[in-house]
Amino acid sequence: DFNVSLPYLGKDELGDLSSSIQKLAKDLEHLKNERNEFLASIAHELSTPLTYLIGYSKIAMREDLSDDDRVHYIKIIGEESERMKELVKNLLDLAKMDETTFTVSKEHFSVRPFFDNVCKLVQPSYEMKKINLHLKCNEDFQVYADPVRLEQIILNLLDNALKYSDEHSEVTLEVQKFENKTIISVIDKGIGIPSDEIELIFEKLYRVEKSRSRQFGGSGIGLAVVQELVEAHGGTIEVKSKLGEGSVFKVTI
Ligand code: ADP
Repeated sequence: DFNVSLPYLGKDELGDLSSSIQKLAKDLEHLKNERNEFLASIAHELSTPLTYLIGYSKIAMREDLSDDDRVHYIKIIGEESERMKELVKNLLDLAKMDETTFTVSKEHFSVRPFFDNVCKLVQPSYEMKKINLHLKCNEDFQVYADPVRLEQIILNLLDNALKYSDEHSEVTLEVQKFENKTIISVIDKGIGIPSDEIELIFEKLYRVEKSRSRQFGGSGIGLAVVQELVEAHGGTIEVKSKLGEGSVFKVTI
């Protein structure tokens, strides 16, 4: 009787419709699973630093502690808080981007003072790992971008370069002008990315070798945010990497 009530749909069309509905149901199920996985991962990422914060604050209050030890524990509390702050900032951005309320307000500004300042911001964490950060910005010129967003892009990339490099390594931040474009490269000599995974690292939550990434900290959303921010500028991002030799992330805007 189905054929009678839907006279314009032949057997083939009905078959197509039925498989479309099945596919849709599968996609929805997949989305639901993805969301649950995402939430579980975020909860985990937030609970790890929180566990440290609670544990170390208890230790830091002990009366028998030397001043040096107390400073050491307070420093860890500060670092873990910074990590949480970055994570929450990235999460808020991802949420905004999905709601499309996210805007980029571009303006003209000089590259050299801007990148000098970005390097200053990461200097303390680089110093702690004894990694040299070189800024190569031979010529000062004007860039047209959202300075807050551009800073976030570069901080995320510099944070990764630091995280995935050994102590005493070096990282270069290179800024060049090419025609009417600005090319910003973050070059590290760290652990590199397996070639078959390079395409995947921009996906939300994707991390090369989960256990290895756990050890380095991080949530797998930094690069998803970077990509969205670069695209919101109408720019592109490319990666070149060799396992065990290092990586180059090149942003063109
Ligand atoms: P995470 O918070 O895990 O660093 P990202 O989205 O920033 O998340 O990066 C995704 C994954 O890409 C990381 O887990 C890491 O395995 C890999 N990755 C990113 N940047 C680098 C880099 N400079 N060197 C090596 N691997 C990197």
